Amino acid sequence: MTVSLDDLPLRDDLRGQQPYGAPQAPLPVALNVNENTHPIPDEVADDIADSVALALRDVNRYPDREFTALREGFADYLGHGIQPEQVWAANGSNEVLQHILQAFAGPGRTAFGFAPTYSMYALLTRGVGATYVSGERGPAFSLSPESAAEQVAAARPDVVFLCAPNNPTGTPMENDVIEAVYEASEGIVIVDEAYREFAPRDAPSALQLLPGRPRLVVSRTMSKAFAFAGARVGYLAADPAVIDALRLVRLPYHLSALTQAAASAALRHADTMLGMVDEIVEQRDRISATLEALGYTVYPTWSNFVLFGGVEDTRATWQALYDRGVLIRDVGIPGHLRVTAGTEEETSAFLDALAAIGR
Ligand SMILES: *Cc1c(COP(=O)(O)O)cnc(C)c1O
Repeated sequence: MTVSLDDLPLRDDLRGQQPYGAPQAPLPVALNVNENTHPIPDEVADDIADSVALALRDVNRYPDREFTALREGFADYLGHGIQPEQVWAANGSNEVLQHILQAFAGPGRTAFGFAPTYSMYALLTRGVGATYVSGERGPAFSLSPESAAEQVAAARPDVVFLCAPNNPTGTPMENDVIEAVYEASEGIVIVDEAYREFAPRDAPSALQLLPGRPRLVVSRTMSKAFAFAGARVGYLAADPAVIDALRLVRLPYHLSALTQAAASAALRHADTMLGMVDEIVEQRDRISATLEALGYTVYPTWSNFVLFGGVEDTRATWQALYDRGVLIRDVGIPGHLRVTAGTEEETSAFLDALAAIGR
């Protein structure tokens, strides 16, 4: 007899829910989950392997619970005067976000985001038994400081997610929106800067707003620009008191010695690891220009992906690309698809396939 979820004493609030499920298919050109598709250079991979090998000699012992060296590495990398005691890290920024929700949301509390945005915000919120509330964006997925502040003031959430730039739309977010939302709320305001490295170099970061704002949290990840998605390393910067709150909910020794060693080693090679960012940005802009020429609606993007509209039948276009060996993402916005900027060859494969399919 097969057992189904209905037969189990599952939490009522999880009944009927769907797990996160971006398709993982072994296609030659995978541009669906915004990874950095450039492989890690050999000399960096060798140094990371050496560091992991060294850490392996001590895996009979629990790792440094406070991941001291890694926090110093992140503080250094972030700059802006960020100190190691302001830094937190976990197994992907998804776990970082989960820690925040565990500490500041939970049953009877609410978290808030402006739709369409990163689908994990709602899933993570439900996972801690809190309620997720969606706000709205303006034309072309924009968000004005006035509208954002008004919506947050009305919803009074315990946690606000601001995705900057926004996934899946790529929409840039100016710091004045963040300031307005912070003023309008009494909860934790998380600015998710997962794609920060793909924004223009001189664009301000939410990190600049941290001084004097103890409820502000800026999260980052090594999964995207850093080409480290498989290692699962995310981090954040905030007031040291916020970090103390996260210590209450993390599992003991949540960052393995091997993860700490690998991430610290990768950070030592930040310049090389990030060396591909300019090339990816170039391919992103090429995608935007080409899609526009093909007659699609293209949105401004500060990330490593492009959302495009004007797709007659998203399911059919997605499948036709799939059949040509190209995997992109249907993010559930009617008439729209999202594609990650890959290497020059991968990007060409996508653009050629799409042009061949036609609108
Ligand atoms: C990819 C992504 C993350 C990163 O997740 P990891 O757990 O660090 O791999 C976080 N936020 C957004 C908006 C993303 O798109």
